[in-house]
Amino acid sequence: MVSDEKLIYLDNNATTELDPVVIDEMVPFLTKFYGNPSSGYRFGSQVRQAVDVARQRLANLLGCEPAEIVFTSSGTESNNAAINSALQFDPGGKHVVTSVVEHSAVRRHCEELVKRGCEITFLSVDGNGNIALAELEEAIRPQTAVVSLMSANNETGVLFPIEKIAQICREKGVLFHTDAVQSVGKIPIQLRDLPINFLSLSAHKFHGPKGVGALYVNARSRFRPSIIGGGQESGRRAGTENVASIIGLGKAAERAGECMGEEERVRGMRDRFETALLDRVSDVFINGAAAPRLGNTSNISFEGVESQAALMLLDRQGICCSAGSACKTGSTESSHVLRAMKVNDERARGSLRFSFGRFNSDADVERAIEIVPAVIEKLRSLSPRTSVEVEPVMRFS
Ligand code: PLP
Repeated sequence: MVSDEKLIYLDNNATTELDPVVIDEMVPFLTKFYGNPSSGYRFGSQVRQAVDVARQRLANLLGCEPAEIVFTSSGTESNNAAINSALQFDPGGKHVVTSVVEHSAVRRHCEELVKRGCEITFLSVDGNGNIALAELEEAIRPQTAVVSLMSANNETGVLFPIEKIAQICREKGVLFHTDAVQSVGKIPIQLRDLPINFLSLSAHKFHGPKGVGALYVNARSRFRPSIIGGGQESGRRAGTENVASIIGLGKAAERAGECMGEEERVRGMRDRFETALLDRVSDVFINGAAAPRLGNTSNISFEGVESQAALMLLDRQGICCSAGSACKTGSTESSHVLRAMKVNDERARGSLRFSFGRFNSDADVERAIEIVPAVIEKLRSLSPRTSVEVEPVMRFS
């Protein structure tokens, strides 16, 4: 096991460290309070009350009603459930609008839907990672069951204009789902003011536990569950609740609200890191820099470098980040997001994602500013393009 002693964790878009106060809140529900929230006696109903507190805390963060929250197993499940529900409810609806840069939890699900006779329009993006709203308007047709567009991109941090998209969908009378897994906890959201029907989130992206998420279902939107069984979650998601994790999600949501002011500090660290790299390393490009972006994400292309090799050398120095390319059956495949942004192959293959969080310190940034340029220089000195034997790894999450 790699211990976190000297770790510089700059992969907060992949997952985040559990906040200690979240753990404290969860532990009693793994030990003492093991009752089933659906049981009629007090030992069960007190657990039900704790789940309801979690629901209220998440509703406070999102600016919605507690009854609009459905707890799920993940952001992936929430995304699948929203799109499936929209398709099942609209008998004539056989069309979904999404984008080419979505996370696989939407993109691959949509690709599967094609095999079941559904039509999908994948909106393109420009060089900055933005969609064209006119293209969205044109894509919506009478058969469109739902528009599913992400709030923030997990690879580049680029933000889609969710308010404008929601407005367009409302005017066209079509349901709108947003995958907000990367933005919840990082930017303020007030669902009460927005015509959004469904929103997905995941606790482990904002210092909560893994394996628990939620789907916001607007009170006026009809919803058909994907997981059928008992009547949990008001009949919207069957299965005995993952109580401790739900409690953890609730506490993490509360903390995210309290710590929202810290996001400026996080942005400051990210900006300092980018400025230093632009200063010290030649042929460096920041992908999505011209678009509105999350304050924590930095997607950087280093020309003449294989990101897999850089990832491995950085790992040896204790830096955790993500590579923009993945080894696949002997060849290197670059990120679908960067390809969609027309980033040339060389730059796409040399891209790394660094994502910061509130548990990072100035010292982490200073160390990274020393180590990253040295690693890039070393790889460039081993020309031509260094091919280091690396294990195939998952690209972005
Ligand atoms: N959507 C986005 C944008 C993500 O970044 C992720 C996770 O990386 C997911 C969905 C999937 O969330 P989960 O890991 O909870 O399944």
